[in-house]
Amino acid sequence: ATPTALLAGTSRGSKLGILIKSAQVLEDTRHVNTIVMDKTGTVTAGQLRVVDTLAFETFSPGAVLTAAAAVESRSEHPIAAAIAAAGRAQGSLPAVTNFVSAAGGGVRGEIQDDAAAVPNARPVHVGQESYLKSEGIQLTGSQREALRQQQERGLTTIIVAIDRQPAGLICLQDTPKPEARKAIAELKELGLKPVLLTGDAAPVARAVAQQVGIDPADVFAGVSPEDKVSQIEKLQANQQGVAMVGDGVNDAAALARADLGIAMGSGTDVAMEAADMTIMRSDLHSIPTAIRLSRATLKLIK
Ligand code: ADP
Ligand code: MG
Repeated sequence: ATPTALLAGTSRGSKLGILIKSAQVLEDTRHVNTIVMDKTGTVTAGQLRVVDTLAFETFSPGAVLTAAAAVESRSEHPIAAAIAAAGRAQGSLPAVTNFVSAAGGGVRGEIQDDAAAVPNARPVHVGQESYLKSEGIQLTGSQREALRQQQERGLTTIIVAIDRQPAGLICLQDTPKPEARKAIAELKELGLKPVLLTGDAAPVARAVAQQVGIDPADVFAGVSPEDKVSQIEKLQANQQGVAMVGDGVNDAAALARADLGIAMGSGTDVAMEAADMTIMRSDLHSIPTAIRLSRATLKLIK
């Protein structure tokens, strides 16, 4: 290879806000034909907003939101930030002890109930259905139906359990980045097949895929951080080259495993360390730009 051309490529990249870890990375783009994208924070803005809180049984929506917000104030997930903000807007939050976070699943902790006749600590779980199930908490048929209904609206919906009983649902809205549809169309024009990979539920993922022009057959939802890696490996076994775009701690292993890992600069340091390239602007157009830049650079070498 001609190192000068490769170096020119990487320096041109940095002017475009595309940081390339080593010139070798440009070579890696040569065989990429599939581009796997994380949903939250990559395809979507990742600025979630609580739009609804529903309560089950004798719980009130206010109590559900306050309990969830208290526990989520200890987490850095974009879902947590939105729930904590909504809860704080409602009033002060109880203290939390024994906080535990399960990546790609949810969080739990104990809130101090000072209003009780005898002050006590109540367990609170906040997360997706599989996480609550792993903690031994099950939804009834009608609660699950309520969950599905919200997900079908395209809302990321989180279950809150108090005292190990399902207490309610918190529905959050996220929106695709304004340029997502156009950038994905450009990737297709470059001959790349876009795939959506997410830990969120299938109906929510399909709603986003539909808005941005990703085939519903190319949506992999409910995928845990470890399964994101095996999903990349599965695609690699079937096709030639897989690029992965992500921003979260939960994407790091998949970014490292992909033939070309691309981190969003707006994301976590862990993702950027694992990736081959970092897109400094959160603009998705940088991805087709990076692919075109690599191809143009490699052409000079041939
Ligand atoms: P993504 O693949 O969209 O980046 P994650 O792997 O981080 O999502 O999380 C997958 C799912 O796990 C979320 O959609 C949510 O249901 C649940 N989850 C993860 N972290 C939290 C949290 N801090 N609070 C509530 N739910 C969470
Ligand atoms: Mg993400």
